[in-house]
Amino acid sequence: MKNDSSEEWLLFLSERKMTEITSKDILKALAHVDDPDLHKDIVTLGMVKDIEIDHLNLSFTVELTTPACPMKDMIQRACINAIKHFIPLAETINVNMTARVTSHRSKSEILPGVKNIIAVASGKGGVGKSTVAANLAYGLAHNGAKVGLLDADIYGPSIPIIMGLRGHHTAVEDGKMIPAEKDGIKVLSIGFMINENQPVVWRGPMISSAFKQFVNDGLWGELDYLIIDLPPGTGDIHLTLTQLLPITGVVMVTTPQDVAIADCRKAMKMFHTPGASAPIIGIIENMSWFVPEDAPDKKYFIFGKGGAETLASEFGVPVLGQIPLFENLRSLADEGRNPFDVHNAATSHLQVMTETLAQHISIKNNTTQTG
Ligand code: ADP
Repeated sequence: MKNDSSEEWLLFLSERKMTEITSKDILKALAHVDDPDLHKDIVTLGMVKDIEIDHLNLSFTVELTTPACPMKDMIQRACINAIKHFIPLAETINVNMTARVTSHRSKSEILPGVKNIIAVASGKGGVGKSTVAANLAYGLAHNGAKVGLLDADIYGPSIPIIMGLRGHHTAVEDGKMIPAEKDGIKVLSIGFMINENQPVVWRGPMISSAFKQFVNDGLWGELDYLIIDLPPGTGDIHLTLTQLLPITGVVMVTTPQDVAIADCRKAMKMFHTPGASAPIIGIIENMSWFVPEDAPDKKYFIFGKGGAETLASEFGVPVLGQIPLFENLRSLADEGRNPFDVHNAATSHLQVMTETLAQHISIKNNTTQTG
C-alpha cells in the first residue's frame, strides 16, 4: 500500500466531515493498492468492479488477470487495509476476488476462442513432461480457469492414463472432433487414435497432419489456457507448432541430471532458431529430489542438484517450479486421478508450479494486452 499522500487524504476527509461513503472515496483508497506483478495500482489497471455501498457497508470486486494468482490473498488484504485506513467510517468491507484471464493473442482464425496457448516440451523422454503438462491442466482448472489439453506426444499413452481416459475414442460431429472431458478439462490426444499396445510407426508428416487436425478440427470453444504436450526432443511437430500457431510460450521440463540438461539445452536452442522460434516462458525441474513416504522430512538428490537453475540463468528465463519425486504422484497418475482432489504431499508443489506459470503469463500479456 502506498503511503505518500495518505496524510493529505485523511486531512481532506476530516475537512469534508465524512458522513457517507461514495464510489469515488473507494476508488481513491484502492488507488493505493498495487498489483505487485504488474507494477501499477489496481484502479489504474481497471481491476476494481461492481462497487456497492449500503450506507457504511461496502462491497466491491477485484478482477485479477488469472484465477491462479499467487498474490490473490495479499491483494485482498491490502484492499481491506486501504479501506480501513482511508475510510475509517466503513463498517463492513466485502472484497470479492474474481479473474478474467488476459491474452496477448491478436484475433486469429486459428483457435479464436483460446486466450493462451502453452506448449510443454522436453529434450528427452522420461523426464515427466506429460506428467507436468497434465498437472498444469489439473492445476489451472482447479483454480477456476477454462482449460484444454492437446496431447501431441506420439510416444506414449501418458496423457490418456493420467487423465483417466484410457480407451476413449474421439467422437466426430459435422467434421469436428469433440474433446473428451475430465474435471472440466477438454482433452484431445493422439493416444485416442492409437492402440496403446502397438508400436507407433508414424512418420513426421503424419504426426504433423494429426496435430493440425486437432488444432483446426477440435471443438475447443472458449478456453483461458490450452496446454499442448509435445513429443520429446526436436522434430517435425515442433516446426508445425511454431509455424501454425501463435503460441504464448513454451514451458521446458527437465530433471536436474546432466544428460537431461544437455538435451533440454538443445531443445531450448531450437526454439531460438528462425523457422522454429517461440518464446520460452521458463523451466520446470521435475524429480528434483526424492521424498520417501515414511520419512517426509528427508530429501535425496537422486539426479543431482541445481541443473535447471544453471540452465535457466544461461537462457535468462525463470525456474517455474521444482517437483520432487513422490511415489503417490506416480500412483495417482497411473490411476488417472486428479492430485488436486486428493490430499497428498505433491499438491503444494503442483500448486506453486501452476501459480508461477499463470503469473508469468499474466505479466507477459500485460506488456502487449489485447483482451
Ligand atoms: P515424459 O512425458 O517426459 O516421457 P512421463 O510424464 O510419462 O514422462 O513420466 C514418466 C514416468 O515418471 C511416469 O510413470 C510418471 O508417472 C513418473 N513421474 C513423472 N514425474 C514424477 C514425479 N515427480 N514423481 C513420481 N513419479 C513421476
